[in-house]
Amino acid sequence: MRNFFENFDENYLSIPKMRQHVPELARIYEAMNSTERKKFVKTEDFQNFFKNPTVCTGCGGACCTKSVCEYAVNDFEDFTLPKLREFVDKGKTMILLREDLELIQLIARPKDSPVVGSASVLSGACEQHGANGCAYSYDERPTGGALVVPGEPCHKGCHDILDIRYHYGQWFTKSREKPLADLALEYIKGMC
Ligand code: SF4
Ligand code: SF4
Repeated sequence: MRNFFENFDENYLSIPKMRQHVPELARIYEAMNSTERKKFVKTEDFQNFFKNPTVCTGCGGACCTKSVCEYAVNDFEDFTLPKLREFVDKGKTMILLREDLELIQLIARPKDSPVVGSASVLSGACEQHGANGCAYSYDERPTGGALVVPGEPCHKGCHDILDIRYHYGQWFTKSREKPLADLALEYIKGMC
């Protein structure tokens, strides 16, 4: 299901955030044209900016024990109801109803949370976080987690480079399409 880097959309990456938090990456990225960027994001050279086992092991996963990461619309190649249902039925994803932004989005499922709910039911720690960090490989990780640059001090020094306005704009559009809303309703009816 994960296809963010395959169908890369450069609008998801915030160049101002990159310049501020990962200037070396910004310098490399900004010198590239669109075609080169699409290839670059699939390389270890790009992904190594986001993988820092030393810092993350020392930290113990403060990000994943305090909150969960968000999927991007671009993480899904197929937004049909059967495909979404198949994915969410695995039990590792939560359908988050965000009344503040008037949208529905998919996030990594927090421990002890229902499959569908509002931010008020989020318990904090992620179901996928264990003694060895995230159970997902980098390629499987929700984009919101994959694009976090670890830093020190842990948590305060870590920054994502996701363009938040674009990211939520994409979810806003998807929320108004039938399959995601229908799936949320299916689960809500199942809870009654
Ligand atoms: S990304 Fe940051 S908060 Fe998360 S485990 Fe790594 S150092 Fe800790
Ligand atoms: S899916 Fe992985 S990276 Fe994202 S919050 Fe959960 S443990 Fe952390």
